Amino acid sequence: MKVIDHINQAKETLVSFEVLPPLKGKGIGALYKHLDPLMEFKPAYINVTYHRSEHIFRKRADGNFEKVVIRKRPGTEAICASIMNKYNVDTVPHLICGGFSVQDTEDALLTLSYLGIDNVLVLRGDAAKNETSFEPEKGGHKYAIDLLKQVVNLNHGIYLEEELKGTDGTKFCTGIAGYPEKHFEAPNMEADLHYLKAKVDAGAEYIVTQMFFDNKKFFEFQKHCLAAGIHVPIIPGLKPITSKKQLTVIPRTFHVDLPSDLADEILKASSDEVVEQIGTEWLLTQSKELKKAGVPVLHYYTLGKPHVIANVVKEL
Ligand code: FAD
Repeated sequence: MKVIDHINQAKETLVSFEVLPPLKGKGIGALYKHLDPLMEFKPAYINVTYHRSEHIFRKRADGNFEKVVIRKRPGTEAICASIMNKYNVDTVPHLICGGFSVQDTEDALLTLSYLGIDNVLVLRGDAAKNETSFEPEKGGHKYAIDLLKQVVNLNHGIYLEEELKGTDGTKFCTGIAGYPEKHFEAPNMEADLHYLKAKVDAGAEYIVTQMFFDNKKFFEFQKHCLAAGIHVPIIPGLKPITSKKQLTVIPRTFHVDLPSDLADEILKASSDEVVEQIGTEWLLTQSKELKKAGVPVLHYYTLGKPHVIANVVKEL
């Protein structure tokens, strides 16, 4: 079932979870172990992230280095199908521009469609580790909107091959990313909202936000979106803080602020166990306020901490 249908049919705020494919070598059992304790909360759907290949330099026996391409977390499409099969729940694979030519994208979309997957979260992806800024694949898309247009075209039976025009299309419901604290490359919020609106006008059916730790930023973002003419559902993305290290890692990686009340409490914590308690309480307070405000879905980035998410969701 499509995410947008879940939202339209729901009588109250839904929950959804986001997981990463297991690291190569771990097996899918590790992912099931992660998801098992969360399934009692009946998520409307589960997102599975996409991780592109990385270039690394490996030292050879002769002392020289060779460039090798490795993918640490492959299998997004197959994992979505396995989760659907095992738990009878809808899944949302993330689809990115990085590393894909338009032909690769069309093939990936057809694979997903044949697997019975109704949703895709359409993203640009970040720069690869060896790039200073995002570089599209040769013959690939530069921005998420270009990828979105390809998905929308395929939904209308418009393939890359002209002669297939008018044949069977796909039926994907498309989500996109939004940034309550602005995407880090955008010169200002107005510019970022302009491109967000363009994605909605191109057919995106809902927005999932980058994580945020201050609900005021989300509520302001909702207002800015409305003022910009964006009327699709906006789903807040939520993540628990569970270690002191995240005080610097989260702002550096995701370009979001931590409110001073939260940062001060974490700084004073005597151990990461205490940080986890603080982070759980914070997430619960955020979740309750967002639910009260009537958000369509609470989307949790579970990232290795299913018990924290379970402790929050069971209190809602
Ligand atoms: P875009 O919409 O393409 O925007 C990128 C930047 O370009 C923005 O600054 C925007 O303002 C600007 N822009 C957009 N269109 C134009 C235009 N036409 N001309 C000029 N400027 C423009 N990354 C992964 O690799 N895998 C994942 O699974 C993944 N999942 C994510 C899930 C969520 C909910 C979120 C919020 C992010 C996720 N990301 C993921 C990270 C995401 O790929 C990055 O944040 C990326 O830098 C931007 O992606 P986007 O889709 O927002 O890009």
